[in-house]
Amino acid sequence: MRYQRPKGTADILPGDSEKWQYVEQTARDLFKTYQFKEIRTPMFENFEVFSRSAGDTSDIVTKEMYDFHDKGDRHVTLRPEGTAGVVRAFVENKLYGPQVLKPYKVYYMGPMFRYERPQSGRLREFHQLGVEAFGSESAALDVEVIAMGFNLLKKFGLNDLKLVINTLGDQQTRDDYRQALIDYLEPHFDELSDDSKERLHKNPLRVLDSKAPEDQKFVADAPSILDYLTPAAQQHFDQAKAYLEALEIPYEVDATMVRGLDYYNHTIFEIMTNSKSLGQGYTTICAGGRYNGLVKELGGPEVSGVGFGLGVERLLVLMDAEKVAVPTDDHLDVYVVGIGDAASATTLKLVQAVRGAGLTAERDYLDRKPKAQFKSADRLNARYTMTVGDSEIEAQVVNLKEMATGEERKVAMADIFNDVKQVLTAK
Ligand code: ATP
Ligand code: MG
Repeated sequence: MRYQRPKGTADILPGDSEKWQYVEQTARDLFKTYQFKEIRTPMFENFEVFSRSAGDTSDIVTKEMYDFHDKGDRHVTLRPEGTAGVVRAFVENKLYGPQVLKPYKVYYMGPMFRYERPQSGRLREFHQLGVEAFGSESAALDVEVIAMGFNLLKKFGLNDLKLVINTLGDQQTRDDYRQALIDYLEPHFDELSDDSKERLHKNPLRVLDSKAPEDQKFVADAPSILDYLTPAAQQHFDQAKAYLEALEIPYEVDATMVRGLDYYNHTIFEIMTNSKSLGQGYTTICAGGRYNGLVKELGGPEVSGVGFGLGVERLLVLMDAEKVAVPTDDHLDVYVVGIGDAASATTLKLVQAVRGAGLTAERDYLDRKPKAQFKSADRLNARYTMTVGDSEIEAQVVNLKEMATGEERKVAMADIFNDVKQVLTAK
């Protein structure tokens, strides 16, 4: 029996995990400057958390959910995205209370699960970085969230980006537009995909989001939601655009863009790239928007939210394709070379002393000859070697060698145990 990882999953090995750490740390540092704090929610939730939030007609809920009944017959699901769980936690922990500073701003990062057909940049277990901000209706917050996503991608050295925005307006806008779409699509009912036939009356906006070619030919001539905006919705959208212009963030408006979640309203956005590494045409790597109805839908008060999710795998594919250099620090501070069996306890004490000072240290564990140990030191990019054999132990010294210069000197072991950093910097 040969065991293989489940289809659509990946092992992230040393060599790659450094890139992940770099991405995560860069995101943490940036989010901190915007005063977003980390939230960690469970990897699985009750099924209803997602069916209520993403909407019963979304691809995520109808086709992509890893849901099952547990041994207590509870219907649970591995999270397919981050927002619903964060909103559930926001409601459950009453983070809208008077003692909480508004807006309430959080970020998350971690694995998500969707039953999809795996391909480049599309997995069954994948990872998202995301942010959510609750409790302000201001378009300035929409733009802050967009700017944060945009600047994050720029920090990763990605410049060939396209920001596409749209508005889904308020409830009145949606109701009016919904009817206009139904009126437009109904005469073509027989030509629509099966999914779209199903969704036409439940949620016609979904038809615009369909990837089926038979649906896409109706998208171009569909009525534009921009013609159905109420004055308040128009004002919010105009504000958002004005703020983007104030920040000199270039954008395009695509009136046919709708998002996968049902509870989006007002500003929605996608940040896309044209990179061939992710397939033909534009691919979205960061997507989000405002969802003023979601907190209420999940049992909370009427509190608005806005956020985005960013796919880490797609980001890394892009960074590789664009040859973005990830800063790596793969040197070793000290390799301790032991000569003879009797040296083992001493080399062990020495590596521990170096590590105790916060430096990196390694030694041999395979009874290799000194020559092979020096080879290991080279392969590990050691800055220093410390060599100990019988005579060094007798004299309680080590032979310290600086690899770059080849310079060697004897150093008292007591000094190393006392302050190894001082020893290494002393000349
Ligand atoms: P798509 O249209 O590509 O299926 P989506 O609309 O389902 O994307 P969202 O739910 O908005 O995607 O998720 C936000 C981001 O998460 C996407 O832009 C993408 O970068 C990433 N993402 C979504 N699904 C996957 C997946 N199966 N594997 C890897 N990354 C994914
Ligand atoms: Mg999808």
